[in-house]
Amino acid sequence: MVVGIAFYDVKGSADIILLAMNLERQIEQYLPQPVLELVKDISGQATKLGQRVYLVGGVVRDLLLGYPNFDLDLVVEGDAVKLAQQVGETGQAKLLAHHRFGTAKLGYENFTLDLATARKETYARPGALPEVTAGTLKDDLIRRDFSINAMAISLAAKGYGELIDPYQGRNDLEHRLIRILHPRSFSDDATRILRGVRYEQRLGFEFEAQTAQLLKQYIPMLDSISGDRIRHELELILKEEQPELAIQRLSELGVLARIAPSLKGDGWIADKFDKARRLKKTNQLPSLHFCLLVYSLSETALEQLLSRLNIQAKLSRAMLDTLHLKTKLPLLDRPSLKPSEIYHLLREYEPLAIQANAIASESPTARRFLRLFLTKLRYVRTVLDGEELKRLGVSAGPEMGKILQALHKARLNGEVRTRADEEKLALSLKAINLHADPVKLPGSDRRSTSGPCGTQSEGHSE
Ligand code: ATP
Ligand code: MG
Repeated sequence: MVVGIAFYDVKGSADIILLAMNLERQIEQYLPQPVLELVKDISGQATKLGQRVYLVGGVVRDLLLGYPNFDLDLVVEGDAVKLAQQVGETGQAKLLAHHRFGTAKLGYENFTLDLATARKETYARPGALPEVTAGTLKDDLIRRDFSINAMAISLAAKGYGELIDPYQGRNDLEHRLIRILHPRSFSDDATRILRGVRYEQRLGFEFEAQTAQLLKQYIPMLDSISGDRIRHELELILKEEQPELAIQRLSELGVLARIAPSLKGDGWIADKFDKARRLKKTNQLPSLHFCLLVYSLSETALEQLLSRLNIQAKLSRAMLDTLHLKTKLPLLDRPSLKPSEIYHLLREYEPLAIQANAIASESPTARRFLRLFLTKLRYVRTVLDGEELKRLGVSAGPEMGKILQALHKARLNGEVRTRADEEKLALSLKAINLHADPVKLPGSDRRSTSGPCGTQSEGHSE
């Protein structure tokens, strides 16, 4: 891991690097060729503008660890937006600039580059968002969370590849330590508690002793953090490869309970997260994790959590549905249920809530029916539509509605399989309707548990 020797000033303020370690060779091997060329080009343009560009944060940490990370963050001593505008004009990148924050995103075909003006932060009060002004690279590094994230690599032609590591991040990487940069760090920003645990568990590192002690001390400061910021950090955790590790650790530390009193992470959660992962549905995984995380909460506790974390409407609905459906699971624990009955029990719930229950339910029968709904029943459609029924002489209105419902029910139960089957059934229902009105058509009563003529369809096995 050690690829050179860095000398820091001996007074301990670590602000002067006399001879930095050079990572030129490592960068050339680490970054894909087109990205490398681009980054060099950007740095060249910066030099012409009298600016300097550095790679910073996660990518430097991961380069030193040998882990892939092409989520590139660049810090610009100068004006990142101006530089990004110029780069955007000459290349084929899409530019998204935030003048107010001095940041810009350059979007290329396969990746994005984040450019940020080096900034200096001061906190008016603990937990508040910091006041931000332009600064030097060193100002920018000291505002960061942990030493392993507070390193930079110079990209300017003069000093290309030089590691800038004022807080001995590389040393901490070697000793596998998560260390804050100053004792007020967690009080300035308690989201760092969540971030620290995320890195600790992802990398298999430990908190340095004083950091560990301060982290525990400042857990109550999480109360000063907005719901949006806490939710954002939880989302990052739930996107980790094994989020259960951080969730269990946060639970042991009392962090989860600080966010919502009955929230916990235990072996049950670990088992369910593992099952969720095996579904290999990457896009929905973080939301599914959220639903599983709240599975043991009461509805009142969940409502408090939704409001504390300001969770958006769709996910809120899925989380609430998860708990509602959980109370209905005994109805699904009956092996004799017909597909149409399963359909009517589940049709109103968010698919994510059904998925969460398919993972969390204790009943193998209920789990099987939940999966059957997700994989097949919810997609079942009749062949005939209203127009075609009209051509068969069915009049628009309640009759048609009832016949369509009955056709759908028969489809679900495998009682009709072809267009001809549907036409035959539609005509016979129409005839019943004409001769014996008012009649209760099959399928017209949603609470009914007996289908028209129903053996369970073979077509609906999982
Ligand atoms: P990951 O691999 O998880 O993306 P990362 O280091 O890139 O890790 P980000 O969350 O993308 O992490 O943040 C980018 C950088 O911004 C971090 O490396 C860190 O230096 C800095 N940072 C982010 N959030 C904070 C914070 N709350 N306090 C201080 N610095 C932060
Ligand atoms: Mg990142």
